[in-house]
Amino acid sequence: MSIFCRIDDKHVPLYRVVWVSATPHYCGEEDCVREGSYEIRLEQGEAVWASLAERDEMLQRLEAWHGDMDVPDDGEENW
Ligand SMILES: [Zn+2]
Repeated sequence: MSIFCRIDDKHVPLYRVVWVSATPHYCGEEDCVREGSYEIRLEQGEAVWASLAERDEMLQRLEAWHGDMDVPDDGEENW
């Protein structure tokens, strides 16, 4: 499987993802262009902004990727 996930206009390598936002961005700033987008934080303090569908795709790929590495599944959500 690919180790990349397409987010916006970028192919993001799964191994660079630090965390994935569970809720859409809201900071209250009137001119915020990220409102409603989901932040995907990368190493080095970088971030990409995903739609809900892209965020879900990323989560699925991350889970599948970790599954490939034989991480024991204790049936719990560790996100
Ligand atoms: Zn904002």
